[in-house]
Amino acid sequence: MTALTTEHARAWADRFVSVGAERNDELTELDRQAGDGDYGTNLRSALRRAAVNLADEPTSPHEVFLAVSEAFLNTGGTSGPLFGMWFREFAKATKGREVTAVVLGEAATNAVAVVQRLGKAEVGHKTMVDAMVPAAEALSAAAARGSTVPDALAEAASAAHVGAASTERLLAKRGRASYVGEHARGVVDPGALTVAYFFDAAATPQS
Ligand code: ADP
Ligand code: MG
Repeated sequence: MTALTTEHARAWADRFVSVGAERNDELTELDRQAGDGDYGTNLRSALRRAAVNLADEPTSPHEVFLAVSEAFLNTGGTSGPLFGMWFREFAKATKGREVTAVVLGEAATNAVAVVQRLGKAEVGHKTMVDAMVPAAEALSAAAARGSTVPDALAEAASAAHVGAASTERLLAKRGRASYVGEHARGVVDPGALTVAYFFDAAATPQS
């Protein structure tokens, strides 16, 4: 497969909605331990809105990403608007284009740049950025090697998981987790883990 189809994009978003619901308690618990415990509630309301938007039958990958982006942009917490802006870059980069691995790499690179501009987080600050940066790098590197879309997305998922796992040993420098100091050490950042689950959701059932 050389380009992301609308069906694949739709299945990816649908799986993200279901995995987000399945993992909600786990993500809430992480935010309870290193934040204020509202992460799962914020994610749940964003994903519910995403499911409603997706029911409008998007006709392109661009429309799928837009449906998810708008759902997150209308959500509270720090994570809602940041994810909304992140997904918005996927929508922008894919608009009117054949969505190859190169395009997805470009989207992920632009997307994390926007999140960093808004949130001022660097890699190592124990935020979603710790998974977004390696995922974007893995996607772009795979695309440059000529990987297929499913292979490039699988590499992004692995890199995002490594990035998310790396947050466990960190002290937070951004967000509410930075208020709890040493209490945040030993807790994986829920935003980073959500990024990994998002890329996991791109796996096609047969891959
Ligand atoms: P709040 O901290 O307002 O309760 P949420 O619980 O919705 O927000 O989201 C917390 C998540 O937001 C964290 O797990 C982290 O990944 C992310 N986050 C917090 N601050 C920043 C930031 N400045 N830049 C990027 N991501 C951030
Ligand atoms: Mg919170």
